[in-house]
Formats: sequence, structure tokens, C-alpha cells
Amino acid sequence: MTSRVIPLIDSRLATPVRTLGGNTETPPVGELSDELGRPLRDLRISVTDRCNFRCTYCMPKEVFDSSYRFLRHSDLLTFEEIARLARAFVQLGVEKIRLTGGEPLLRKDVHKLIAMLSPMTTRGGSPVDIALTTNGSVLTRKAQQLADAGLKRITVSLDGLDDATFRRMNDVDFPVRDVLAGIDAATAAGLSPVKINMVVKRGVNDREIVAMARHFRGTGHIVRFIEYMDVGTSNGWRMDEVVPSSEVLRMIGEQFPIDPIDANYIGEVAERWRYRDGQGEIGVISSVSQAFCRECTRARLSTEGKLYLCLFAHRAHDLRALLRESDQHPPLTDSQLEGAIARIWRGRDDRYSELRTQSTAQLPKVEMSYIGG
Ligand code: SAM
Repeated sequence: MTSRVIPLIDSRLATPVRTLGGNTETPPVGELSDELGRPLRDLRISVTDRCNFRCTYCMPKEVFDSSYRFLRHSDLLTFEEIARLARAFVQLGVEKIRLTGGEPLLRKDVHKLIAMLSPMTTRGGSPVDIALTTNGSVLTRKAQQLADAGLKRITVSLDGLDDATFRRMNDVDFPVRDVLAGIDAATAAGLSPVKINMVVKRGVNDREIVAMARHFRGTGHIVRFIEYMDVGTSNGWRMDEVVPSSEVLRMIGEQFPIDPIDANYIGEVAERWRYRDGQGEIGVISSVSQAFCRECTRARLSTEGKLYLCLFAHRAHDLRALLRESDQHPPLTDSQLEGAIARIWRGRDDRYSELRTQSTAQLPKVEMSYIGG
């Protein structure tokens, strides 16, 4: 575990969104890496900033109410724009793309976007790994369509099995059984093993940790316990509400002995553990207690085409402006687009989670529903 609490003074967080100027960039020669030597491997794309849940830790009702101004349809990147940007990122080294949001299954015809992305191959010639994170609320209806479009795997968020607790957390009275039915539908459509994300908040759903482990043991699905994070500025995050992964592992290990196992690849955010009796594996994502900034190879594209270099960033780079401005000028070539993204990535030095303290939680940060989880 790294010791990481360093006071943060970072005036860049207050600078406004920057629009790229000019289109005379050229793509890099050789491996692209940022200021801390990190390559570009993952791209998260938020396809909508809207969600039908109001999870108290993500989109609290008091903030995301009927007067909240979500993006207009014309602000959103079109599927063609997303696919063009995705191709540029893949040329620069991206191997994995995750669609998220908001709730990605609320974006009309999102399966058509998957069909556009799924034939893409990495620079090494392997298929690009396309994944999607969902709250599972409409998965029973959509799982087969997603699989038919080429989706290979899916992550479903579920914060507990106790119905009252779950309904309170999603704050729209959505029942557990419908999410479980969505997981079954995903399995039947071949999107397995399903990963199941549980955000753990002390005093809210920590009693569900062992119940979730017990329920999904032996099913082939992989539950990942996520430390509650200070994303955005609307969830009123407090350090004492975070249940460190070490505590989660101790609670589960007391019931079902577990052993650590190797990561699937360098930079994998979940630390993997397997049940000693062969009943499968679990993961813990310790972005608060054990920051993994040094291995973060992830770029994030917001619903309206802003490129964020960190989940906790405030400043972004307006790729949509770059794409749309070029409608009027000589068209931006793919090589110029790749060059512009490469320049941004080379200048990346973000490592917020290593610098986190209770006071950094007050700094302006992008909301997770906008940038995608
Ligand atoms: N609507 C989809 C869903 O529910 O999975 C995708 C978007 S959601 C923002 C992506 C993931 O981020 C979910 O697993 C959610 O639980 C997680 N998340 C949201 N806010 C979080 C927070 N404050 N700390 C940790 N995880 C969070």
C-alpha cells in the first residue's frame, strides 16, 4: 500500500475547458506515453448524462432534480463522431473501450453504436475489447440485442441484495429482483461472466458485503467491491464513509477463505481474489485507500466530446469542437486528429487519488454521471 496523503494545491483545476486550436498536428511515432510514462490503453465513453436512478452517492435527487439542465440532444456526440474518435484512440494504443454514462442503455439505439465499434482491431491486430457498464434496469429487454451487436461482456451495478437498502440507495424505488433478472438475461445472451459492481458506503450497505459474496459465489459472476469515492461535488463525500478494501476482504475471508491472484493485465484496477474452495473470484477496487494513479492508462470522453484525463479532473479538452469546427475549414484528417489527441496525452500528469485528502473533496470536479464511471 502506498502512503499518499500530500496537501494539494492545484490551480489548474479551476481553469475553464480548453478548446483545441489549429489542426496541424501529426500523430506520434512509436509508443505514446504521458508525463509519468503511462501509455494510453483504455477509453471510457459516456453516451448519455441521463440516468433513471438517483443513487445517493452519484446523482443525488436534491441536485439532479427536475430543474437540472441535462445536455440537449444536439450537444451529444453522434455515433459517427464517437466511432471516429474511438478509431483515433485505437490508433494511439487503446485496446479497451467501455461505454458508460449516465445510464448507457437509455441512449437510443446504443446497440447500433456497439455494432460500429465491435469490428475494430487494436494496433496488434486483436479485437478491441468492448464493454458496457449499466444499472441493469432495462437489461432484460436489451441483453440479446447488445450481444447480437457484438458486445462481449457487461458490468452490472448492484449495491446490495436487501431490497429496502437497494431501493433507498437508488432512490427511485427500483427493486433488486429486476436487476437480478437483467443479470440472468445477460448470462443467457452469452455476456458472461458478468461483473457486478457494488459501491460500499459505511453505515448504508456495508451489511450487504458478505450477502453479495455468498449469493454470487459459484455462479461464475465476479462481484467487485468499490470504495466509495469523492467523484464530483454533489455527493457530500466524507472519508469516514469509505470502507477500505482491506476491511471488505477481512469480512469475506472470515466466512469464505480467499487468496490473492495475479492481475489479468498491467493496470487492471480491480485487485483479484479467489475462493480457496474453487467457487470463483471477487475483486476489490481501492481507489481511495490504495491509489493506482501510477498505472492509470485511461482516458475519458464525455457525452458532448470533452476529453478528461482523470475521473477527478475539472479541466477538459474539447474534441467535439475540433471535429465540428473542421466542418467549415479544410476537413481535419484522421492523422491530424490523432496528433491532437497525442499531444494532450503527452502532457498528462494527473494523479488525483494519490493526492486526495478530505479537503481535496471540496475542489471542483466533473460529475461522474457526465463523464462516465
Ligand atoms: N448507470 C451505469 C451504472 O449504474 O453502472 C453506469 C454509470 S455509473 C456512474 C458507473 C459506476 O460508477 C457504477 O458502478 C457506480 O456504482 C459507480 N459509482 C458512481 N458513483 C460512485 C462513487 N461516488 N464512488 C464509487 N463508485 C461510484
